[in-house]
Amino acid sequence: MIRNLLLALGAFMLLALNASAQRVCAAHDVLEQQLLENPLLQEMMEEIERHTEGFINTPEGVHERVQVTIPVVVNVIWNTTAENISDAQIQSQIDVLNADFRALNADRLNTPSIFSNLIADFEINFCLATQDPSGNATTGIRRQSTTRTSFSSNDAMKYTAQGGLDAWDRNKYLNLWVCDLSGTLLGYAQFPGGSAATDGVVCDYLYFGTVGVAAAPFDKGRTATHEVGHWLNLRHIWGDATCGSDLVSDTPTHNTSNGGCPSYPHYSTCSGAPVEMTMNYMDYTDDACMYMFTPGQKARAQALFATGGSRVSLLSSPGCQPPSGGGGCAVASGLNATSIAQTSATLNWGAVSGATSYNLQVKLSSSSTWTTFTGLTGTSSNITGLTANSTYNYQVQTVCGGTSAAYSSAASFTTLASGGGGCTDTYESNNTKNTAKVIPVNTTFTAQIASSSDVDWYKFANTSATRNIKIDLTTLPFDYDIRLYRGTNNSVLASSLNGGTTDETLIYNTNTVSTSYYAKVEGYQGVFSTTQCYTMRVSLSSSAFRTDGSSDGEVEELEIPVVFENVPFGMFPNPASNHITVEVPMDTEADVQVSIFDPSGKATLQQHRVLGKGDNQMSFDVSRLPNGIYFVEVRNGKSLNTRKLVVQN
Ligand SMILES: [Zn+2]
Repeated sequence: MIRNLLLALGAFMLLALNASAQRVCAAHDVLEQQLLENPLLQEMMEEIERHTEGFINTPEGVHERVQVTIPVVVNVIWNTTAENISDAQIQSQIDVLNADFRALNADRLNTPSIFSNLIADFEINFCLATQDPSGNATTGIRRQSTTRTSFSSNDAMKYTAQGGLDAWDRNKYLNLWVCDLSGTLLGYAQFPGGSAATDGVVCDYLYFGTVGVAAAPFDKGRTATHEVGHWLNLRHIWGDATCGSDLVSDTPTHNTSNGGCPSYPHYSTCSGAPVEMTMNYMDYTDDACMYMFTPGQKARAQALFATGGSRVSLLSSPGCQPPSGGGGCAVASGLNATSIAQTSATLNWGAVSGATSYNLQVKLSSSSTWTTFTGLTGTSSNITGLTANSTYNYQVQTVCGGTSAAYSSAASFTTLASGGGGCTDTYESNNTKNTAKVIPVNTTFTAQIASSSDVDWYKFANTSATRNIKIDLTTLPFDYDIRLYRGTNNSVLASSLNGGTTDETLIYNTNTVSTSYYAKVEGYQGVFSTTQCYTMRVSLSSSAFRTDGSSDGEVEELEIPVVFENVPFGMFPNPASNHITVEVPMDTEADVQVSIFDPSGKATLQQHRVLGKGDNQMSFDVSRLPNGIYFVEVRNGKSLNTRKLVVQN
């Protein structure tokens, strides 16, 4: 009877919460309290901020790519059995972190086009710890029953003496505490610079992971993504003030937090009325409505792992390695996929000492549900019944008699496209401009970006009879981009940088005849496919190409004076700090106005000139513009084209 009553009460409270569910995160409040209590914290955080700025402003720093794997220990503090959440619920949260911080979450494709070039892969991975601070095997999950019926943001769950669990060494682990947080508090985190004893992230057990007792609308694991964002030195996107700063240059200024699931576009009431990035993980929107970080946020997080960074010691933590000395049941590693076909693949992993069998889980990368194969005695398994041209994730668990290790980090593979048979790239190796391969024009061919460092350079010539250039990329397995160059000039003449697997079409109408046009194809932020080619075609024409959707993209009537029509003009560098050069190709002499608008639509810089036939360059000083996103518009009469510019001074 009592149990039924409790269940009924629990159901009622859940309904009550859902009716007015609003994300509440105490990270900023806790920080303000800590700053009051500890005068040294301000200094420490300012030092971290100086280091972060140095990292962001150093070109080497910007290009320094640190792949980080953070050992995680999940401390479950429970009073009721429901609060003692399952291993599966915990694993589902680790999976979400690994997807969200690698931009592998399927819903990132919901990002509106104005932000789609701003989706960042943090290059930060998470593992449930396999080695505890003493060097012994662990599942990375600690469980502690408590007499406390709930906790607040006063950190009691972080102390064994107060009914919680003491943290593991923050120099080696990210501590996550899962408990019942009172009221509507979903979670909170401690920013870099705070006390070691309380360093980490706290989440309510109802808003952790995607399965078990995880409750909508916070059941997609984004509370932990948001809080780990704070732990990685990210601020709320509205800067915890009206039109405040989040210390990031490529996010728009938000008036305040957004809750629920705002319809797009949602305009800020701050200066310039930019479209707010409500889908950023550092807003307060529902789990289903947040799905991206930006490169500016990534830079702040990556700074922590650069030399002198406050979390750099995690890079040398042994927490994700199997314990030495044996006796443990090590986590499987060495995952790779072979014999990949349209509907099958062989999944392989390394043998683990002491293993009696292995469990294998496979899922479509877009799915949250694993299919589990248990009791595998070998170190490979042939999986059939797969869907062609689809990306799958898989992970392996070592079983040692009665105990088992945590699942390995997930690996992925992509099945072959139907009708295909893999693909061959006859133009490799062409990873640099100097090794660019000469390609035929007006001919369709396939090629492949086969690794994260693979870049494809091509060289071709136009002729005086067919000067205008169009390049199409189709059958893209991932977000590939294309840029056009000429001769020894390393400035981009034109580019096509769509997000997702949208086809790319680059148009460059020009009078310049050259034997050395270069096209560069690369995966956005290192994406690639080991199994699927992309298709490319360079078309040349006597008449100007246009992008209005006409069947072959060509203008038949040569007499129409198309000076330019939606022609992608060149613009570099982008992001810009001191000045930008706008390159405008002209078919004939004409009056052209180039304007740089701030997000409010106000023209901040403008040049009005008569440009001659051929390529024209116009330079703009952007050094005094506030950091942010601007729009560069090139206008000739009624024809205009606009591109986005990021200013980072
Ligand atoms: Zn927060």
